[in-house]
Amino acid sequence: MESATSISEILSGKKVNEDVTIRGWLHNKRSSGGIHFFIVRDGTGVIQCTIKKDRVAEDVFDAAKKITQESTMEIRGVVKEDQRAPGGYEIQACDMKILHLAEEGFPVAKKYHGPDFLLDHRHLWIRSQKMQRILRVRAGMLRAAREWLDQNGFTEFHAPTLISAACEGGATLFTVKYFDGEAYLTQSWQLYAEAAIASLGKIYTIAPSFRAEKSKTRRHLTEFWHLEVEVPWCDLEGIMKIEEDLLTYILHSLAERSARDLEALGRQPGDLLKINPPFPRITYDEAVEMLNRDGVKFEWGNDLGWIEEKRLTLKFDKPFFVTHYPRSAKAFYHKPDPRRPEVTLSADLLAPEGYGEITGGGQRIENINDLLDRIRENNLNPEDYKWYIDLRRYGSVPHAGFGLGVERTVAWVCKLNHIRDAIAFPRLINRIYP
Ligand code: ATP
Ligand code: MG
Repeated sequence: MESATSISEILSGKKVNEDVTIRGWLHNKRSSGGIHFFIVRDGTGVIQCTIKKDRVAEDVFDAAKKITQESTMEIRGVVKEDQRAPGGYEIQACDMKILHLAEEGFPVAKKYHGPDFLLDHRHLWIRSQKMQRILRVRAGMLRAAREWLDQNGFTEFHAPTLISAACEGGATLFTVKYFDGEAYLTQSWQLYAEAAIASLGKIYTIAPSFRAEKSKTRRHLTEFWHLEVEVPWCDLEGIMKIEEDLLTYILHSLAERSARDLEALGRQPGDLLKINPPFPRITYDEAVEMLNRDGVKFEWGNDLGWIEEKRLTLKFDKPFFVTHYPRSAKAFYHKPDPRRPEVTLSADLLAPEGYGEITGGGQRIENINDLLDRIRENNLNPEDYKWYIDLRRYGSVPHAGFGLGVERTVAWVCKLNHIRDAIAFPRLINRIYP
């Protein structure tokens, strides 16, 4: 097909007074007297197009009168600067061709719909301005993450999705039929990442993880995208440094490149530019003390839940680390602190404004006997982890890593109420359609 001009290019101001052809979907329309105002969307942006009776052929003007929302079209016209138009530019059409006339009654037309209706019509709702913006910010986030990781010597690595043993505990494992036997969907790349650092050094992945989360919350999906990093010759402090530098780069890059989308979502880009390393660090023990002082009952040894994290986030105006979680609150591969073995060399990064945990990570066990102890302590079968244990026989090094929840981070950056809007087609305990 002949190429058309993208709306984003027009909105950048480079096409003023030029003749252009755009292709897109009719986002909405209003008419007054001899003029139709179309808002057209092409995936790169939306622009107003005016179709005036005295500037187009009669059949074109009549077609414009009858056109339905979401019809696809090609419009030719001249670009004008106009402060009244959304985005500051409009196209004064001289011709229009309808490519597909949409059926009447687009289900998610501009009126109030409840969340269930919108989830049932997600395949159409992702066309909304709000979802477009979120999905662009999400893409921008991953682009920035890759940029930073690639520039800093990390190699992208892919671990399998179908696996034979759990790494984050059996309670959230999805089982799938695997020919005559059973397999699981991966909860994290963790165990494979530890094998791969001996091959590639510093590595990262961006891939889906699966967890059968049985409680309904605003921050759990059953399929989420996981940005994971693993680094040889790295300790707890080293991995926190990497996390804060990476996240700062992502936030600053979004503030610069996605400012318009962020503002429309209610996030001031300046908020993100203010975030710089170092991020505050508190220990789990300090967190428990803070909670107790606030009158929140919380027992030492448990993992922090949403209520506790929300409370803690009120005390910080930027992301902060909670370190040294009890071994009972962390998966078996976390390294116990040699100075105080009841806690681990672990760190979660919590986002402010009530959002809470966005990353979990820390130092891993490098000693074979410590690993065997932790496997038994968690009632796991060492036979299932033979290859993983082997890694401690051949060239073991201190190493650390973390996993960042992409949707959790998008939800915070875009100020979303619910994690489901941070992904196009959310998978939740009660939803796998569409
Ligand atoms: P939580 O305690 O909040 O359930 P977790 O401690 O089980 O999370 P980790 O195993 O540390 O999570 O996973 C690393 C990151 O992956 C988390 O910090 C979070 O951002 C993200 N994550 C974990 N589980 C989910 C989920 N079900 N849906 C969305 N993101 C998730
Ligand atoms: Mg965690």
